[in-house]
Amino acid sequence: MKIPLVTEIQRFSLQDGPGIRTTIFLKGCPLSCPWCHNPETQDPRQEFYYNQSRCVGCGRCIEVCPAGTSKLVKNSDGRTTIQLDRSNCQRCMRCVAACLTEARSIVGQALNMEDILREALADEPFFRNSGGGVTISGGDPLLYPEFTLQLAQSLHASGINVAIETSCFPKLRKVVESLIGSIDLFIVDIKSLNPQKHVEVIGWPLEPILANLETLFAARAKVRIHIPVIPGFNDTEDDFRTYVEYLSRHIDDISGVDILNYHCGGEGKYTSLGRDSSYQYKGVEENPAEKVLPLAKALKQAGLSVTVGGIVGIADSKSEIGCGTVFGM
Ligand code: SF4
Ligand code: SF4
Repeated sequence: MKIPLVTEIQRFSLQDGPGIRTTIFLKGCPLSCPWCHNPETQDPRQEFYYNQSRCVGCGRCIEVCPAGTSKLVKNSDGRTTIQLDRSNCQRCMRCVAACLTEARSIVGQALNMEDILREALADEPFFRNSGGGVTISGGDPLLYPEFTLQLAQSLHASGINVAIETSCFPKLRKVVESLIGSIDLFIVDIKSLNPQKHVEVIGWPLEPILANLETLFAARAKVRIHIPVIPGFNDTEDDFRTYVEYLSRHIDDISGVDILNYHCGGEGKYTSLGRDSSYQYKGVEENPAEKVLPLAKALKQAGLSVTVGGIVGIADSKSEIGCGTVFGM
């Protein structure tokens, strides 16, 4: 069984399914969305953040590094900090252990199942009172189907509602099939319904995603759809019309749609991970809330339950548009 690293276990999460939830973020995703605001979950391997503002230029990390990745440099503000070249980094994490100011910190912890369950079950009374539970997210939990299944079954054994957040990417249908009886809610990201754009921009074909959705629909699994609205990628009238056409054909298969407007909250993480140059959305401004209004209205008119902002628990009726952010209709 492939065991994932965990980047975070977030308690009191309100945006990852109904009620109060604990969200477990697994590290590793086969898609490469250029706007990703959780870049620390893309690479399945352990990494480290370097936060220059905490660095005091002591050089302890240089002394322990076997790969010579770091050197001291004088900044324009007169401070001495580190210049890093991670290309030869061996991921030994000695520099993190040596750093006394937490300028370096590990991304991705190897936790065992017992540790994860203990943390996940700590808020069980809140789950019960709010209709919440645990959401397995990422990255993508379907990169680790056996682990996800085992975790979901253990949570179920304690009476915990389990959701997963996924792009439903696997090319083998049996991966999704294996989880159907053990997952209470599949929250599926549809990043585009344009096959060419999907493969060219994200680096993964659309076909297996739609085939997996059909599998979930046929099995009467509970499915919510997340639509991230991304400037210049899927925010044209044509994109919106395609979403409405597809989703309105599945009105009885989908419990709701959450529209997630693009935000640039992950920008600083790219810097701390040393991936500034690979972040294509640097400086791209957030969509105004009005941008997603036509999509929200059209989906609602088609009879779907819609939230904007992703607070799933706030609206589960087909007559309202729920609002994660303040939003005038
Ligand atoms: S993790 Fe990379 S940068 Fe840090 S000490 Fe090891 S080789 Fe050097
Ligand atoms: S050990 Fe930490 S504080 Fe010291 S130079 Fe390295 S990153 Fe900066």
